[in-house]
Amino acid sequence: MNSSDEEKNIVTQLKAELAEKTKWAFALTDAVEAQKETGDKLIFELEERTKWAQGLDQTVEEKNKLIKDLQKEAESYVKQGFKMFKMRFGWGPKDGPDGMKKNIELAEAVREVIGEDTDLMMECYMGWNLDYAKRMIPKLMKFNPRWLEEPVIADDIHGYAELNNMNMIPISGGEHEFNMFGFKQLLDLKAVSYIQYDNNRVGGFTAAQKINAIAEAHQVPVIPHAGQMHNYHLTMSNFNCPISEFFPVNDVEIGNELFYYIFEGDPTPENGFINLDDNKPGLGLTITDKYKSDFNIIE
Ligand SMILES: [Mg+2]
Repeated sequence: MNSSDEEKNIVTQLKAELAEKTKWAFALTDAVEAQKETGDKLIFELEERTKWAQGLDQTVEEKNKLIKDLQKEAESYVKQGFKMFKMRFGWGPKDGPDGMKKNIELAEAVREVIGEDTDLMMECYMGWNLDYAKRMIPKLMKFNPRWLEEPVIADDIHGYAELNNMNMIPISGGEHEFNMFGFKQLLDLKAVSYIQYDNNRVGGFTAAQKINAIAEAHQVPVIPHAGQMHNYHLTMSNFNCPISEFFPVNDVEIGNELFYYIFEGDPTPENGFINLDDNKPGLGLTITDKYKSDFNIIE
């Protein structure tokens, strides 16, 4: 019997036990009035546990598929020559210890494919809170992450500071910070070990260069959020920007991806590296009509 079958058996047994107990709790509500409140409370608790057991049943298969898909995707990037990888977590504070375990399993699955001699960045996209992050960080140290990204909401600068000053995993952030004053606060508090502004959001090249200068004076590297030409040019022109992010092109889903369909000229990575063409003027982008027929242009 494999572990998946064992898990299924445990869940089936658990559900049967819960069904029996629920029957008993219902019977209790029919008994004397004094016992009714206890019966109602028990039913609520048992229904909650039953829901949890049913969820567990589904997630055994879902979890296996998720991990397999994730590993396949990671493997494709290894084959393309990338040596640095970023993963996202799927669970947060509302998912309790079970969710923590699943987050760890995701990290294990990625490390298994990318090996130990690669950089692994971990992305929370503000989905955690301070308490959850403080509990997760010691569990994640064994994966030797290069950084933990946006573990708490962007405005919780003191939360960032507390996590970064644990000195266990370097904390990164800044893609939801909008001018140099916010970055000054982050740097003053030693709240981040990596800055990840987005040129689109901080006020363009002039503002971004000011942030670069402040960050360099604090010896905090800048790795702009996402790739794309408006960020690549800043990376290429600053010694304090050691690497670039690259997002694989996705189908249009929510509109953020429109960038890929309106402009052309973004470099394609080769063996994990991007190169910019010195002979192209400006950003090196041109507007394309290639996907024009896919959109309904109203003005
Ligand atoms: Mg991010």
